[in-house]
Amino acid sequence: MKIHEYQGKQLFREAEIPVPRGIVVKSPGEASAAVKELGGKIAVVKSQIHAGGRGKGTFKEVPEQHGVVLVRSPEEAEENAARMLGNTLVTIQTGDEGKQVNTLFVEEGLDIARELYLGIVIDRETLCPVLIMSSEGGMEIEVVAEEAPEKILREHFDADLGLMPYQARNIAFALGMEGKTIRAAEKFLVSICKFFVDNDCSMAEINPLIVTGEGDLVALDAKVTFDDNAMFRHKKLEEFRDLTEEEPAEVEAQAAGLSYVKLEGNIGCLVNGAGLAMSTMDLIKLHGGEPANFLDVGGGASVEAVTEAFRIILADDNVKAVLVNIFGGIMKCDVIVEALLTAYDKVGIHVPLVVRLEGTNVKIARKMLEESGKDIITASDLTDAAQKVVATLK
Ligand code: ADP
Ligand code: MG
Repeated sequence: MKIHEYQGKQLFREAEIPVPRGIVVKSPGEASAAVKELGGKIAVVKSQIHAGGRGKGTFKEVPEQHGVVLVRSPEEAEENAARMLGNTLVTIQTGDEGKQVNTLFVEEGLDIARELYLGIVIDRETLCPVLIMSSEGGMEIEVVAEEAPEKILREHFDADLGLMPYQARNIAFALGMEGKTIRAAEKFLVSICKFFVDNDCSMAEINPLIVTGEGDLVALDAKVTFDDNAMFRHKKLEEFRDLTEEEPAEVEAQAAGLSYVKLEGNIGCLVNGAGLAMSTMDLIKLHGGEPANFLDVGGGASVEAVTEAFRIILADDNVKAVLVNIFGGIMKCDVIVEALLTAYDKVGIHVPLVVRLEGTNVKIARKMLEESGKDIITASDLTDAAQKVVATLK
């Protein structure tokens, strides 16, 4: 689950990680009032969307307007807010369609002496979290990795012990910090690593992490993603969820107990079991097709779940054919076919449908398919199924 910058900063503040003072606003008038309340000479008006690159991004409706702007007066804040709210911000991370800005975060403008990069992710190779830092703040880390990989520092840490103070100091020295900034870094880095583990984050990124003119460290940006599989133990974080930022079909699928991820291709996949779903996608690609989605209906899918799965797959206009790939283990094939035929009538399938079944009661199930009189292409095995579904598109 992703959250907004202002929500990430609220959590940082609670974890004693320094952030600028800021106010959430939803109208131009509120933006003006927020600048007055913050009181400084400079304020920053920041679009809140679940994507980065906002500073360089621009609005579809107002091409000269950027997603993060520095303002010097309440009036300037109000004018900018009016050009941002309700409009669609396109950044390198949103794709061409962009994202609508419904909320702004107005922050005090800080005096930036240095911009650094900080990221924390799980390193799957060493099976532990890794703190990534670079002197090139404000730049995309992928670009730094490409152009100046020597500028990226990595420090693995133990999830139970957290980042050790000596590790934090080593990084501070490697980044050329001096005086009180070293002590600030020690506290900052230990806290943010603890925050990452305590909240079951899958990613935390602060770009830029700044050193102020005073030598303090402040998180100027906050991009936090939580591991969905751990959300059950963070009920409090549920309130931060912004469904308007998520793929609607994925939200519906989740409510129906299905694992669904929308993809770019045109072959819809309905599969039971995540591993089988992955191999199905691989085979489609091997035979020259592109899957439109990942969909796992689960081991004990009900008629209702299969119907809902069909509805979600077919609601995607990109879908030009559907491949159903079921292995009847605990699930019996005839039950699946019953669900399939019910769904066929209920949803109304208007694209070629290829079905491959194997496992318990497969003979009964195939007979049911044959006798249904419906326009369904059957396949004998996985390769046959993948080839047949790709062929329907030619
Ligand atoms: P994004 O990464 O989506 O472009 P950021 O939050 O990183 O958004 O903001 C973009 C840039 O705006 C930052 O790199 C920084 O230079 C500037 N900026 C952001 N917040 C502040 C602030 N509170 N004070 C001063 N400058 C800021
Ligand atoms: Mg940023």
